[in-house]
Amino acid sequence: MADAYDVLVIGAGPAGLAAACRAAESGGSVAVVDDNPRPGGQIWRAGEGKFAAGAVAWLASAERLRVGFIAGSRVFAAPATGRLALESFTRGEFEVSYRNLILATGARERFLPFPGWTLPNVMGAGGLQALAKGGLPVEGKRIVVAGSGPLLLAVAKYMREHGAHVRLIAEQTPGSALHRFAWSLALHPEKAIQAIGLRAQLLGVRYLTGCWPIAAEGQEKLAGVTLRRGSKTWSEPCDYLACGFGLVPNLELASLLGCRMSAAGVEVDEYQLSSIAGVYCAGEITGIGGLELSLAEGEIAGLAAAGRLETARHRFPARESGRRFADALDRAFTLRDELKSLPRPDTLVCRCEDVTLARIQSCRGWREAKLHTRCGMGPCQGRICGPAVEFLQGWKAESVRPPVFPAEVGSLIKASQEGN
Ligand SMILES: Cc1cc2nc3c(=O)[nH]c(=O)nc-3n(C[C@H](O)[C@H](O)[C@H](O)COP(=O)(O)OP(=O)(O)OC[C@H]3O[C@@H](n4cnc5c(N)ncnc54)[C@H](O)[C@@H]3O)c2cc1C
Repeated sequence: MADAYDVLVIGAGPAGLAAACRAAESGGSVAVVDDNPRPGGQIWRAGEGKFAAGAVAWLASAERLRVGFIAGSRVFAAPATGRLALESFTRGEFEVSYRNLILATGARERFLPFPGWTLPNVMGAGGLQALAKGGLPVEGKRIVVAGSGPLLLAVAKYMREHGAHVRLIAEQTPGSALHRFAWSLALHPEKAIQAIGLRAQLLGVRYLTGCWPIAAEGQEKLAGVTLRRGSKTWSEPCDYLACGFGLVPNLELASLLGCRMSAAGVEVDEYQLSSIAGVYCAGEITGIGGLELSLAEGEIAGLAAAGRLETARHRFPARESGRRFADALDRAFTLRDELKSLPRPDTLVCRCEDVTLARIQSCRGWREAKLHTRCGMGPCQGRICGPAVEFLQGWKAESVRPPVFPAEVGSLIKASQEGN
C-alpha cells in the first residue's frame, strides 16, 4: 500500500516548506519529500547542525501542524496518476499517493564548459558552499569565485566567514548593467539592504565586473585560473575555483508529469496551478526569482491546494513584487555571447560520457547528439550538459523519460509493476 496524503509536496526548500505549512493549516494530511536528510533546500541547508534563521519559524510551524517529512528520498518516476515512485537508502523503492501535488523542486547551478573545467577543485559556487556546510575545511584556502549572479556574493561571504581567502569575485556581467540593477533595488528596499550588507561583509575582496574565467590550470588538480577582463588576460593562483553562471530550474519531474512550460519554467495560473489538474508548482521551478518570491509562491500554492483561494489572494502582492525583482535580475545577469567561445573543440561538454564540443557540433540537434554521442545520457541525465548545450548550441532537451534520477534496477522493475 502506498502512503497516502491529501497534499504531497516535493522539495523541502523555502517554497516547499511554505506550501506544506499553509496546506496543513486546513487540517488535511500533508507531507514533504526531499532527497536531503534535512529540510531547508539550497539556501537554508543546515550547516554545522544549525538551521538558518529564516528556516526556524517555518520548521516550527511544520512540526506544530504535523507535516510529515519524508527525508533522504528521491522521486524518480510517476507510475500512475496520483502516485509517485521514490527511492531511499533506508526504504529502497516505495510509493506515495496524493490528492494534490505541489512541486517545489528548486533550481541548480548552470555550468559552462571551458578548458580545464573538469579539473579537481573546480566546483560549482553553490556546490562548494554546500560541501563547506557539510564539513569540507576551507580555512586558509585561496578561492576565486567566478561566473554570474548574486549567488557569487553569497558564496564569497560564506567562504570568508569560514576562514577562506577569497582572492576575487569575477562577474561576467558588465558594470553598466549592474549599476542599472542597483538602481532598480530602490523598489525593493529589503533586497537593497541585503545587497549593501553583503558588499560590506566583502570589503577588501576585489569584485571585477565584465570579467570571466577562460581556463583552469593545473596537472592533477587546480593550481590557478586564467581570467579575462576587456583586453587583459592574467593568471590567478588558487586552491578552489567556485564557478556558476546563474541558475536553471529543475524541471524534470514537472516535464515527466506533462506540465506545460513557459520560457522561464513551469507555466502556472494565478493560484500556481500547472496545466495538469491537481499539480501545483512553486518556487524556482516556475522561474528564477530568489527567496521572497519562492516563499510567496509556496504559500499561494499551499493555500490553493487546500481550497483557500481567497486567503491565497492576500499573497499576490508579495508575489508581484518578487516577480518584478526576478525580471530585474534576469535583465542584469544576461550571459554575454563571448562565453560561447570558451570551450575549445577538444573541451569536454558532457563530462559523464566524455563528449567533446567538436563531437556535439558534428550533430544537427539534441536528439542526434544523444543518439550519436551519448551526450546527456550519463548519470546526471543532462542536468549539467543540457543547459550548457542549450546556451552553446541553442538546442533544448526534447523529452524527459523515467527515471528522472538514477535508480536501482530493482526499484525500476518494482515501480513499473506497481504502475500496471
Ligand atoms: C546550489 C545553490 C545554492 C544557493 N545558495 C543560496 C544562498 O546562499 N543564498 C541565497 O540567497 N540563495 C541561494 N540560492 C538560491 C535559492 O535556492 C533560491 O533563491 C530559493 O530559495 C529556492 O527555493 P525553492 O524552494 O524553490 O528551491 P530549493 O531551495 O532549491 O529546494 C528544492 C528542494 O527540492 C529537492 N528536490 C528536487 N528534486 C527532487 C526530487 N525529485 N525528489 C526529492 N527531492 C527533490 C532539492 O534537493 C531541494 O532540497 C542557491 C541556489 C542553488 C541552486
